[in-house]
Amino acid sequence: REKLLEIKQLKKHFQIDRGSVLKAVDGITFDIYKGETFGLVGESGCGKSTAGRTIMRLYEATEGEVVFKGEDVHAKKSKKDLIKFNRSMQMIFQDPYASLNPRMTVKDIVAEGLDIHKLVNTKAERTARVNELLETVGLNSEHGNRYPHEFSGGQRQRIGIARALAVDPEFIVADEPISALDVSIQAQVVNLLGRLQKERGLTYLFIAHDLSMVKHISDRVGVMYLGNMAEIATSDDLYEDPMHPYTQALLSAIPISDPEVERSRERILIEGDLPSPINPPSGCRFRTRCPHVMDVCSEIRPEFKEHKPEHWVACHLYDEEHNKEHKARLK
Ligand code: SF4
Ligand code: MG
Repeated sequence: REKLLEIKQLKKHFQIDRGSVLKAVDGITFDIYKGETFGLVGESGCGKSTAGRTIMRLYEATEGEVVFKGEDVHAKKSKKDLIKFNRSMQMIFQDPYASLNPRMTVKDIVAEGLDIHKLVNTKAERTARVNELLETVGLNSEHGNRYPHEFSGGQRQRIGIARALAVDPEFIVADEPISALDVSIQAQVVNLLGRLQKERGLTYLFIAHDLSMVKHISDRVGVMYLGNMAEIATSDDLYEDPMHPYTQALLSAIPISDPEVERSRERILIEGDLPSPINPPSGCRFRTRCPHVMDVCSEIRPEFKEHKPEHWVACHLYDEEHNKEHKARLK
């Protein structure tokens, strides 16, 4: 498998008032393979959107690297390089309305990338390209003359997708692209994204706040907690064998349609609120809410390690030496 992106110890900190620092993303490391959908989940405030934007270079990284096809995106400074990366990576937003200029016709919105990157030479060519893009996402040329407010949420998201596709990107960050849509429309947008991925060999970073949302569309899933990556596994493995106590709790909260299974299931409650990323807990960030917390958890930050093939987790429960403490306590 070919790595399209390598994210290495990526940090994004924001300076806020009185010298405090908000550690939105605080050292995450993972790869994204060409052609896959990598689902990134976590509750709001965990840093997943900031991670997506920093990977896209919408935010400058505080530390760490984002390597795209062998080149460090954040080290590039020349205008030519930046334009090249902007073409390769596109973003789809949660609120398609807010991201579409209300004064521009749909045609001009979709053509923006074509114009910026000078991908068409004549007006006729531009119109043809736009119509083709609109058709690709299930709209038609007549829609091109209208304005964003004339469309429903699902159609607006299609316009946002057409705009992203215009420059023929390889990688798309989709930041909660269906969260704001009606349930009946969500599946249509997911199907569209799936079809486009197959036809164009696209790679997705699909950000969501809910594990059930990414289950069927992701090849692999990463779970973030308070600026750190807690666990990464293939989608099947994560749902069958969640290893991190946080993931276990998130999964136990998803209702199962089979009432038999649902009744016999144990709910794991996560107590307390998400601590502040300005002053995160020492050691393991989840320790203030973890049902398995041990002494070592406040002292040492658990390493993010591959504990079984393709399954990475940051938790002392899976380290032999600390595990003894856990086992001793269970006796
Ligand atoms: Fe819980 Fe400790 Fe594992 Fe953190 S390292 S998830 S506190 S057991
Ligand atoms: Mg967000």
